[in-house]
Amino acid sequence: AKHQGRNTWCTFAPSMLSDAADRLDIRNGLAQALQRDELMLYYQPQIDLATGRLIGVEALIRWQRPGHGLVSPARFIPVAEECGLIVPIGAWVLRTACRQMAQWRAAGAPPMVVAVNLSALQFGRGDLEQDVHAALEQAGLPAGWLELELTESILLQNPEQVLAIVQRLRKLGVSLSVDDFGTGYSSLAYLKQFAVDKLKIDQSFVRAIDAHPDDTAIVRAIVQMAHSLGLKTIAEGVENAAVLELLRKLGCDEVQGYHYARPLPAADTLSFILAAQQG
Ligand code: C2E
Ligand code: CA
Ligand code: CA
Ligand code: CA
Repeated sequence: AKHQGRNTWCTFAPSMLSDAADRLDIRNGLAQALQRDELMLYYQPQIDLATGRLIGVEALIRWQRPGHGLVSPARFIPVAEECGLIVPIGAWVLRTACRQMAQWRAAGAPPMVVAVNLSALQFGRGDLEQDVHAALEQAGLPAGWLELELTESILLQNPEQVLAIVQRLRKLGVSLSVDDFGTGYSSLAYLKQFAVDKLKIDQSFVRAIDAHPDDTAIVRAIVQMAHSLGLKTIAEGVENAAVLELLRKLGCDEVQGYHYARPLPAADTLSFILAAQQG
């Protein structure tokens, strides 16, 4: 047992230590990132499959960390969630996305949404409704131009509390979508109760759908279920024309992915919006 114990220690300790050190380092840097203006948003276009029209952009956070280049949210969002920094960062994302969309609107963008990702902690701590309301007010953006992306795990973690907040958010006039749909366990009853507008089909089912009959069956089932509940569907991770055609056949409403555009810096997003408008 001793021998085994030592082996286990030798195998796991170094990676655990560097992992912890890594997270500590990210956490220390992140604490100052907000004040030092190191965070920024990229925007990825969302397209209506039937008309080819631009219907919105999803705001995706990036961290321009001195000496580290552009840090991916997959690396720092989990740390921000762990230490609670996601609450002020989330409020910053809401303010920045709304202000940006208001500027694009003033520059001639047609009606569309900016979609903002929310973390579970934003429902538990802080005042999400107030953050959303303040972001819209300060920007002078109509609520219909803002969409909030929730995950299934948010809906399930504390249903009564989350439902109360979701209902207040709906009253403000924002729209709601369920992100990464299909990876969690939300039931039809939940979707009805929360009155969301749209399901975002997780990219794990979308990316190689042309090669995997099972994925086709899953996406078909999600689209049919969504439509029977009066919800729209958007497929994420659309990387090529073959996937696009298959999604069209399955009746998916909207698409997002590298096939149309990668997440773009703000300046490039305005060019994309104005070019899309010209057709
Ligand atoms: P997500 O919300 O599921 O966002 C979609 C991710 O897929 C983005 O990664 C996007 O760049 C990537 N993606 C889009 N199209 C394609 C494609 O065709 N192929 C492939 N392979 N990937 C594609 P990103 O920007 O690195 O964001 C990762 C995750 O970080 C997001 O996943 C989201 O969960 C989280 N995140 C990003 N911004 C925020 C934020 O402001 N707040 C919170 N709470 N989470 C955020
Ligand atoms: Ca998302
Ligand atoms: Ca997603
Ligand atoms: Ca995700």
